[in-house]
Amino acid sequence: MKRRKFITKTIKHAGVIALAPSLWASCRKEPIDKSVIVIGAGISGLAAAQKLTEKGYKVTVLEAQDKVGGRLRTNRTLGIAFDEGASWIHGITGNPITDLAQKAGMTTFQTVDENRKSYDIGGVVRSSATYDTAEAELETILNTLMKKGSATQSFETVFNAQYPNYANNRLWKFLLSTYVTFDTGDLDKLSSLLYNEGEVFGGVEKIVTNGYDTIAHYLAGSVDVQLNRRVTQVDYTADKVKVTHNGTVSEADYVIVTVPLGVLKKNSILFTPTLPSNKQTAIQKLGMNCVNKFLLTWSNAFWDDVQYISYTPEIKDKFNYFVNVKKFNPSVNALMTFAYADYARQTETLTDAQVTADIMAHLKDMYGTSIPNPTNMLRTKWNSNENAFGSYSYTAVGTEMKHFDDMAAAVNNKLFFAGEHTEVDYFSTAHGAYLSGIREAQKIIDL
Ligand SMILES: Cc1cc2nc3c(=O)[nH]c(=O)nc-3n(C[C@H](O)[C@H](O)[C@H](O)COP(=O)(O)OP(=O)(O)OC[C@H]3O[C@@H](n4cnc5c(N)ncnc54)[C@H](O)[C@@H]3O)c2cc1C
Repeated sequence: MKRRKFITKTIKHAGVIALAPSLWASCRKEPIDKSVIVIGAGISGLAAAQKLTEKGYKVTVLEAQDKVGGRLRTNRTLGIAFDEGASWIHGITGNPITDLAQKAGMTTFQTVDENRKSYDIGGVVRSSATYDTAEAELETILNTLMKKGSATQSFETVFNAQYPNYANNRLWKFLLSTYVTFDTGDLDKLSSLLYNEGEVFGGVEKIVTNGYDTIAHYLAGSVDVQLNRRVTQVDYTADKVKVTHNGTVSEADYVIVTVPLGVLKKNSILFTPTLPSNKQTAIQKLGMNCVNKFLLTWSNAFWDDVQYISYTPEIKDKFNYFVNVKKFNPSVNALMTFAYADYARQTETLTDAQVTADIMAHLKDMYGTSIPNPTNMLRTKWNSNENAFGSYSYTAVGTEMKHFDDMAAAVNNKLFFAGEHTEVDYFSTAHGAYLSGIREAQKIIDL
């Protein structure tokens, strides 16, 4: 259920060679008399910290939360690895995550979009032919609609003008929601010119089965990470950069800021002097999506034995697609579902009981009113999460691709920026975040 499979541009960096930790160890250098503070222990921060540590820099990672991983976050409270952030390796060929996963012991299962069953409201099974025809048409539309777009118009405005009959069609609302909004952002804010930007790795898609945070723990293994350290100020006026966290000040020669775009948008960290105006503009212009995930468990499975179950309600972006967890974890009777964009933000105001009732209404429509209530429900609230304020970046109306590069630009060769939102080719992904961390570490090494 991914727009990424429609992106027909040249696949870049197919031969990216990620310097895996074991290789770094073999090129370890003598200690270097330079210190680095990395703000944030997500995959970008940890990748940078590990590379610099291996090179002999004195590195400290300051992380606001009580655990590493950031948006690689796995909830194991039910004895199942429920990934609250990233779940998939998008395209395994040449993807640095493939290699990391192997070294870290992260297990995966190949998902196939076509292994699905689609329901309309009233429990009516939609024919594969109907679904496949619409899906193929969407692919064509996504490869051409940008030619009709403009810098000031949203994807939704241009799409609705071109295809007025689809605006209220349930299947089309579903397709746009799961293939476009899921990957990018709110359609009424998404750029009609740049909605299809971003490169892809080739190969199949794999879902992680034992928790994406496995990679974060692996990367953190040889790095000095200080947890529960919320950074509130970064002062780069003097030779050494001063970083304030929990009322104390630490100094370093270089600082890498990896906090999410949402955190930068909220001005949660005070920079002195203020950041250059092009960086401030980039922070403002790039969009931040919200995707929330919900895991429901039962004692027995009552649903179809397929990987994906799609449902096409009237309300867009609402619990319209279910991942059958049992397919890759046979002992677990669980479904994972999603909410996107504004609807996702709305779910954060609902109680657990309300969310469960809404999801159950969709399942009852498909499988009958006698299906049992779930035994448990886990959920995310990424929009109100103070460590992220959203899920990942996207190209909003007003975004230019140079804004990603402006995000990545170093300031005074002292302040560096990594994170998915700084990676012009692979923004919004785990691999993009990883590559950004390696990139910033290399900049410091090159100085
Ligand atoms: C719901 C969801 C689904 C996703 N699905 C996929 C997927 O299937 N495949 C994929 O490739 N990608 C996916 N992604 C995207 C991927 O998870 C992210 O792009 C990637 O994990 C971001 O890494 P990062 O290092 O840039 O940021 P983060 O992981 O967010 O790391 C930033 C760190 O900074 C910390 N921090 C914040 N503020 C402060 C502060 N003031 N002081 C100190 N520390 C602070 C945070 O706690 C966090 O640990 C998904 C993301 C979400 C949310």
